[in-house]
Amino acid sequence: MADTRTSDRARTGRHPADLVETGNLLRTQPDTFPAASLRQPAEARPERHDVVVIGAGQAGLSVSYHLKRRGIDHVILEGAPRVGDVWRNRWDSLRLFTPAKFDSLDGYRFPAHKDTFPTKDEMADYLEAYAAKFDLPVRVNEPVRRLHKANGRFRLETKDRVCEADRVVVAAASYQKPRLPALANDLDPQVFQMHSHEYRNPAQLPNGPVLLVGAGNSGAEIAMDLAKTHKVYLSGRDVGHIPFDPVGFLGRKLLVRLVIRGLFHRILTMRTPMGRKFRSRMHGHGMPLIRTRPGQLKRAGVRRIGKIARIRDGKAVADDGAEVAFASVIWCTGFDPGFDWIDLPVLDGRGDPRHRFGKSTDVAGLYFAGLHFQYAVSSPLVSGVGRDARRVVGWIDAARNG
Ligand SMILES: Cc1cc2nc3c(=O)[nH]c(=O)nc-3n(C[C@H](O)[C@H](O)[C@H](O)COP(=O)(O)OP(=O)(O)OC[C@H]3O[C@@H](n4cnc5c(N)ncnc54)[C@H](O)[C@@H]3O)c2cc1C
Repeated sequence: MADTRTSDRARTGRHPADLVETGNLLRTQPDTFPAASLRQPAEARPERHDVVVIGAGQAGLSVSYHLKRRGIDHVILEGAPRVGDVWRNRWDSLRLFTPAKFDSLDGYRFPAHKDTFPTKDEMADYLEAYAAKFDLPVRVNEPVRRLHKANGRFRLETKDRVCEADRVVVAAASYQKPRLPALANDLDPQVFQMHSHEYRNPAQLPNGPVLLVGAGNSGAEIAMDLAKTHKVYLSGRDVGHIPFDPVGFLGRKLLVRLVIRGLFHRILTMRTPMGRKFRSRMHGHGMPLIRTRPGQLKRAGVRRIGKIARIRDGKAVADDGAEVAFASVIWCTGFDPGFDWIDLPVLDGRGDPRHRFGKSTDVAGLYFAGLHFQYAVSSPLVSGVGRDARRVVGWIDAARNG
């Protein structure tokens, strides 16, 4: 039985969907996990498992569900205090861009009408309920600080525990470390600045114009959120957009299915030339805008400007000649992988794992789930993660029996 809040819920019989937490500003990136205790993990007696899964987001829970179905001993080590915190800590007004019919993990349908778009808190609660429903062995508040090998087994160190495992699945997502451009250091210390992962709502920002740097999905959606209360400049190149409204009638009923199930899941995969080309083009460039249309931004009063080239006399100078004054900046500049706690020779020069469909190509017994384009565009989406999890667990099972 898991020693988690999830399991406490299961014992008390309260449904996590009833417990909506607000005002939780905790960040879930590993570098902001609670400070390590002074206890030396190496002194503790190692705990042994066939498999350890790192991360209890949708990817880790999916892997755990399939491990459990096959009766494979495992534990999930999760750094955050609560399953679903990654979603809870996203901005307040966020709704999923995928309707509920594409928001279910294997074995448990998302509890909402299929054509509605869940809020981020509903998604968080669904993940918590999923872990409770299948009694998945999640240990919260257990950030893994080092993963390495000793005596032929994997060794995982948290602040006060050492685990040993024959196999490890890293399900910590490819987006753990907020990326800040060098330009961030050029700002006057008086200027309020934050990364997009810290943004919750307009009340966090001082009065005056806001400069959003990075015009991908997060930048565009935060711009729409802020435009009601602030003058907003959205800086960055045009990443393109999906040419229909996913929330409109046709979008909900037909086109979303074609994009999410057809294009993202079946066509743009590592097995198709089109998919491989798309993947290399996408690297470091982000997805086209899914929900926000350029016309909507314009109507909301958001002013698009080019890429910021420099800061001069307190103003941002863009490569299209625009020069704007601002009171605050939000860096919507994406994330780096953040796998530096993996002390094994498995990462490439950019810090991404070398793998084939989630199986490390360098170290036997090491797997990944939920990576950016692990197998298809849909790999990091709720609707796509199950297929990758099934594949990874199939390999694990075969290796145990082989
Ligand atoms: C703004 C936004 C909107 C999105 N909207 C949608 C949508 O509408 N539909 C959709 O399908 N997808 C959407 N996505 C994409 C995707 O569903 C999410 O990014 C999802 O959170 C990825 O799940 P994951 O399990 O791979 O990673 P995460 O949710 O990031 O979970 C990883 C877990 O690992 C833990 N962890 C990390 N490092 C360690 C460590 N060292 N030790 C222990 N634990 C660790 C973290 O605390 C975390 O709980 C959206 C993403 C963003 C950013």
